[in-house]
Amino acid sequence: MSDKFQAVVIGGGPGGYVCAIRLAQLGFKTACIESRGSLGGTCLNIGCIPSKSLLNLSEEFHRVKHLSNKGIEIGEIKLNLTKMMKNKDKAVTVLTKGVEFLLKKNKVTYFKGTGSFKSKNEISIKDDKNKETLIQADKIIIATGSEPVSLPNIEFDEKVIVSSTGALKFEKVPKKMIVVGGGYIGLEMGSVWSRLGTEVHVVEFLDHITPGMDKEISNEFMKILKKQGINFHMKHKVEGIIKNKLGAIVSTKDENGKKKDFECDVVLISVGRKPNTSGLNLEKIGIELDEKKRIKTSKSFQTNLDNIFAIGDVITGPMLAHKAEDEGIAVAENIAGQSGHVNYDTIPGVVYTTPEVASIGKTEEQLKEKNIKYKIGKFSFMANSRAKAIDDAEGFVKILADAKTDKVLGAHLIGPHAGELIAEIGVAMEFGASSEDIARTCHAHPTFSEAVKEAALSVDKRAIHS
Ligand code: FAD
Ligand code: NAD
Repeated sequence: MSDKFQAVVIGGGPGGYVCAIRLAQLGFKTACIESRGSLGGTCLNIGCIPSKSLLNLSEEFHRVKHLSNKGIEIGEIKLNLTKMMKNKDKAVTVLTKGVEFLLKKNKVTYFKGTGSFKSKNEISIKDDKNKETLIQADKIIIATGSEPVSLPNIEFDEKVIVSSTGALKFEKVPKKMIVVGGGYIGLEMGSVWSRLGTEVHVVEFLDHITPGMDKEISNEFMKILKKQGINFHMKHKVEGIIKNKLGAIVSTKDENGKKKDFECDVVLISVGRKPNTSGLNLEKIGIELDEKKRIKTSKSFQTNLDNIFAIGDVITGPMLAHKAEDEGIAVAENIAGQSGHVNYDTIPGVVYTTPEVASIGKTEEQLKEKNIKYKIGKFSFMANSRAKAIDDAEGFVKILADAKTDKVLGAHLIGPHAGELIAEIGVAMEFGASSEDIARTCHAHPTFSEAVKEAALSVDKRAIHS
C-alpha cells in the first residue's frame, strides 16, 4: 500500500517549501518532493543566496581596495577566490539545512527524488538510484520552478559557455567575460566579476537594460555601471558562439548590420529562464500549458484539474523568490478554504548591484500607456545627509502618485540600500497610502529613508532639502 497524504508539493524551492510548511500549519498531512538533493530550490542553491554572497564579498573587496581614498591605509589587498567560494558555499549549506530542519519541525515528510504523475492523485518518486516510491495525494501543488534558457543551437558547458550556475563557481577570475543579456542575472554576475578584475562586456539586443524597469532609473543604472567599468553594446544581437583554445569567440551584429566579434575566455548567457515542466508527465494527466509552456492556472492557482495547483516560476508572473513564496502561502490557504491572495501590484523587484535598484508598482511608462494622470516626486541621494556623510550618494528616489487622489502608484529607487527602502513603500501601497501619508511620517535622522520622505514631499513640490 502506498502512503497517502492530504497534500503533496512537487519542488522544494521557495514556492514549494513555504507552501508545504503553510499546509502543515493548517493541519494537512503534507509531503514535499525535491529532486536536487537539497532543499531551497534555485534560490538557495544556485540563485539568490550564492549570488548575493558573491555580490557582497566582491563589493567588500572593491571597497577595501579603495579605502585609502578615505584615509584608511592598509597593506596589499589580495583576493583568495577559493576562500570566497567556500564562504558562499557555507551560506548555501547553512540555509538549505535550515529549510530541512523547518520541514521536520512542521512534520512535513520530505522525499528526495524526482516526482512525476502516474494519475491525477498518484505520484511516482524516483531517487538517484532509480528506486521508485508511489504516493497518493488528495491535493497536489506543482512548484518545479525554472531553468536557464540558452541561445538557439548553443549549449551550456558551465565552464566556457555558462549560465548563472557556472558563473557562480568559476575557479579563477576570467580575464574577459561577454555577458549576453542585460537583465537581472547579467548585471549582478557582471558586477561580481568586474569587481574581482574581469573585463566585462554586456551584449544586449534592446536599447536599454533591465526591460520593464522605469526608463529613467534604467538609464541612470546603465550610466553608473558604465562608470564602474562595465562595457555595454546595445542593440546588438549574438549571431553565434564558437569555442576555441583560449575560450570563445562571440559573433554579434548591430542594428545596422555591422558585425563585431568578441574574443573572451567565458560567455555568460543570461537571456531569461524557462519553466520546468518536462518529466512531470503532465501530458498524461492532461494539464494545460500556455504559449510559453508555463502551467495555466486560475486566480486561485488551480490548474484545469480541480485537485492540482501550480505556483512560482512554473506559472505566469515575475520569476522572483518572494512572489513564489507568497503564492505558496496563498494556495495553501485557498486549499484550506481561506481567502489566499497575492497582490501583484505590490511585488517589489530588486537588483542587488551597487548601488541597488528597487522598484514597486507602476512605472512612468505604464501609467502613460494606461492614460493615468500622475504626479512625480524625486529626491537625489546627493542631498541626503547620511548618504553624503558616508560618501555613498549616487542615485535617487522617484515616487509616482495619482494626480487627483495622491495615492501612491509606484516607486523606483536607485541608491544605497534601495532594496530595504522599498519595503516602506510596499507597506504604504498595501494600505492605500497617499504620498502625503509618507511625507507626514516621521523618519529618523540621519537615515537613507529620509530620501523617501523627501521624494514624497517633492510630489507636492515641497521637499525641504532640494
Ligand atoms: P525553484 O526555486 O526553481 O525551485 C523548484 C525546485 O523544484 C528545484 O529545486 C527543482 O530541483 C525542483 N524540481 C523540479 N522538478 C522536479 C520534480 N519533477 N520532482 C521534484 N523536484 C523537482 N529571485 C529573487 O527574488 N531575488 C533574488 O535575488 C534572485 N536572485 C537570483 C539569482 C540567480 C542567479 C537566479 C538564477 C535566480 C534568482 N532569483 C532571485 C529567482 C529565484 O531564484 C526564483 O524566482 C525562485 O527560486 C523561484 O522559486 P520556485 O519555488 O518557483 O522554483
Ligand atoms: P532577464 O529577463 O532579467 O533579462 C534578460 C535580458 O536578456 C533582457 O534584457 C533581454 O532583452 C536580453 N536578451 C534576450 N535575448 C537576447 C539575445 N538573444 N541577445 C541579447 N540580449 C538578449 O533574465 P535573466 O537575467 O536571465 O534572469 C532570469 C530571471 O531570474 C529574471 O527575470 C529574474 O526574475 C530572476 N532573477 C532575479 C534576481 C533578483 O531578483 N535580484 C536576480 C537574478 C535573477
